[in-house]
Amino acid sequence: MRIVLLGAPGSGKGTQAQRLAERSGIPQISTGDLLRAAVAGGTELGLKAKAAMEEGRLVDDSLVLGMIRERLGQPDTRAGFILDGFPRNLVQAAALDGLLAELKQPLDAVVQLEVEPAELVQRISGRRCCADCGRVFNVLTSPPPTGAAAVCPSTGAPHRLVQRPDDNEATVAERLRVYAEKTRPLIAFYQSRGLLRVIDGQGELDAVTQRLARALAGAAAMPARRSGARAAARARPATRAAKSRTRGARAATRRPKAPRKKTPARTAAKGGRRSAPAAKRRAARRRGRR
Ligand code: AMP
Repeated sequence: MRIVLLGAPGSGKGTQAQRLAERSGIPQISTGDLLRAAVAGGTELGLKAKAAMEEGRLVDDSLVLGMIRERLGQPDTRAGFILDGFPRNLVQAAALDGLLAELKQPLDAVVQLEVEPAELVQRISGRRCCADCGRVFNVLTSPPPTGAAAVCPSTGAPHRLVQRPDDNEATVAERLRVYAEKTRPLIAFYQSRGLLRVIDGQGELDAVTQRLARALAGAAAMPARRSGARAAARARPATRAAKSRTRGARAATRRPKAPRKKTPARTAAKGGRRSAPAAKRRAARRRGRR
């Protein structure tokens, strides 16, 4: 399946994407993780992205789109992917549409995780990640397991929990503002394409995972996707003027029909009878020849 998970910072996209990736075997693609790795690695991309990330702003579309294009070109995405944190604005969503059309891999579903703003702030303040495997925990709501299960799959040692540098009060406020302004419009964008599912992202982690699974099962059972333009047109209330414009445009672009050839099969389908005027003309010709 090809999926986008939408939601505010702290809505649990990353955690749910990780769980889904583990269960389904399809890769989670988190632009935040890719950018953090670039920053940690001191790459050119990382150096360009660093300031925006520290301030809670979006990184330049051109950088993020280049990164996504490269990642979606890798063979492990052939079986599907879970996009987490991308797209983040309408420019990125339109670019993703184009890229997936090029790759002939359209999206199957977009799931929006809804969480109350007060809970978002609480979740972000308790969030910790393992510095080695990247697994996300929350010291308030989902602390790392203890005992044998607490082992980091990357190092075999206990998870090394760190707090993300942008999970501080000032940056979080800006990230939530940016989300409301730039990312929330994607809800309408994907709704108009018939792809959107909204689930309650609050409550027990397992309960949210189940809701997500149900939403995706519903999406998989849907018939073939309507094209974006047609779905958008259906979602819009059609005014009389818009309808007549559409009819005019359709008539202008319609190809004239080629005359259909008569075939024995078609004649038989009409009951094998020839039309009366034609029969009369043939009889007249025969009489003339005699
Ligand atoms: P996240 O881990 O998804 O919360 O992302 C952390 C930060 O990385 C964001 O606050 C942005 O600065 C940057 N970022 C992640 N994904 C994107 C994206 N799709 N477009 C622009 N910036 C992004």
